[in-house]
Amino acid sequence: MKQVSSIADIRSEVAELKSQGKTIAFVPTMGALHAGHLSLIRLAKEKADEVVVSIYVNPVQFGPNEDFDSYPRQMEEDLRACKDEGVSVVFTPDDNIMYGAGKRYFSINIDELNEHMDGGSRPGFFEGIVLVVNKLFNIIEPDIAIFGQKDIQQFQILSRMVEEFNHDIELVAAPIARANDGLALSSRNAYLSDEERKIAPGLYRALQYVEKQIRDGVDEPGLLLKHQQDELEAKGFKNDYLNVFSMDDMQPVIKLKPGSTYILAGAAYLGKTRLIDNIILDL
Ligand code: AMP
Repeated sequence: MKQVSSIADIRSEVAELKSQGKTIAFVPTMGALHAGHLSLIRLAKEKADEVVVSIYVNPVQFGPNEDFDSYPRQMEEDLRACKDEGVSVVFTPDDNIMYGAGKRYFSINIDELNEHMDGGSRPGFFEGIVLVVNKLFNIIEPDIAIFGQKDIQQFQILSRMVEEFNHDIELVAAPIARANDGLALSSRNAYLSDEERKIAPGLYRALQYVEKQIRDGVDEPGLLLKHQQDELEAKGFKNDYLNVFSMDDMQPVIKLKPGSTYILAGAAYLGKTRLIDNIILDL
């Protein structure tokens, strides 16, 4: 496995693999790799000959009061995990390589896909992701890129980005990897105290409960969602959102129709830790 940090080096590594006729699957990450990331790498290996992983904590996607400084960083462990998984090249740029020191003259604007869910709660978050992924796609030019369903709004926004900016890259969504008790794996789970960790699977349970009611025939889940939010608050969560959104445009939906695809998604804090989770509803 090679580790490279400069743009020239990653380009030449990728060019070398491509000259051998190899296809490339790319897995962008912010490091602190867990079994969810590893499941993306395994899927990448199934889909292409060679896997490139990037590890870069992208400052541009963090808000001023968010956890950029405290975000878990464990490069050596991550590199070992990538090697064990058979990754070909790991790209580990720094801020200077990705953004340089100069002023930026262009900014990203995302329309209604960004209005609700994490886009609504975290101003600048998806603009920062679109910026960095766009740059990484231009640098690496993979055949395929793998992202987690855990960040479903990210996947939808990036799918539109690929279409509108004509990246010749196939995006693939990987299922959500969970702990045995149902908690979606996340690098941020490391922030949870023992007590919070016990409560944390409650978010997924609330989603599962609502999913069952919907599958049993509830087509206006508003009250049900409100009730589940109250229950989460009673358990110690501080809610951000819990709602059903249209898969196409990520807008909240009041009345569900058979034959449509929705996303049942929630975000809630336990202490300072923000948890997100979702279930796709193919009705
Ligand atoms: P991050 O390092 O948090 O930026 O995540 C890198 C990639 O891993 C993103 O595509 C995430 O959606 C994905 N990912 C994060 N957590 C999980 C999980 N529990 N299961 C599957 N994919 C995940």
